[in-house]
Amino acid sequence: MSVAAERIERLHDLARAAATEGEQERARYYVRLARRVAERNRLSLPRTFRRFTCDACDAYLRPGRNARVRLQDGHVVITCDCGEQARYPYED
Ligand SMILES: [Zn+2]
Repeated sequence: MSVAAERIERLHDLARAAATEGEQERARYYVRLARRVAERNRLSLPRTFRRFTCDACDAYLRPGRNARVRLQDGHVVITCDCGEQARYPYED
């Protein structure tokens, strides 16, 4: 794993921890930082990172707290508190 990829993993962990503590703004800061590292190094973000972050407001999503999760037509629909929805095929 490259240094940049490790950094992204670390920022993902920090974002999750901040969100767990209810520190949404700090979580956003780490989410944005991770996106920037990925961009600068032309890395794609890990799937779990993409699934648990909002594309519109960079929130770290915690279902039941700041996001709602529904199953619809074989898709998982995640709705962020900001109103943004993301759909993923239902897997595993
Ligand atoms: Zn959002």
